[in-house]
Amino acid sequence: MQSHIKVIIKEPGKSPYYDTIPNELRILQQYVDGNIETVTRGDTVIICDDAGRLKGKPMNCSIAGIAFCGTVIIAGVDGDDFADAPDTLPSLDELFQVRACPRCNAWYDAEPAISREDNKTEICPDCGTYEALKAHAEFVAFSEKRKKAHDRRVKAND
Ligand SMILES: [Zn+2]
Repeated sequence: MQSHIKVIIKEPGKSPYYDTIPNELRILQQYVDGNIETVTRGDTVIICDDAGRLKGKPMNCSIAGIAFCGTVIIAGVDGDDFADAPDTLPSLDELFQVRACPRCNAWYDAEPAISREDNKTEICPDCGTYEALKAHAEFVAFSEKRKKAHDRRVKAND
């Protein structure tokens, strides 16, 4: 068993990064902040808090169609032991199915919204909602201005 393993750590709302950590259960539990649960996919294992969702931890990412809450660690597998994460992994964005929002720089893993500004930039759902509300607020302000101008004209004609 390796004393240290090269892993990928992904915390909710942050970009994934590589790190080398001691290959000890206690350390892994500290990282995921709970008892570990493992999901093995080929020569890769995803390590997470076994009760992340129950504890109400923030949604983190989806990997291979499974949604994870709280911090996840990706390592390799060697028989029954953890090993270095394989070098042949797809790009981290692809692996975690996460995107970085060009507006707020946040990482998100939901379906992107399309920015109203150019009708093509993909932004996070929160920024999408914000843009929609802002457009609505501007429309309301514009309508109120027009109505006031209209009311003034009506009064002037009385
Ligand atoms: Zn955003």
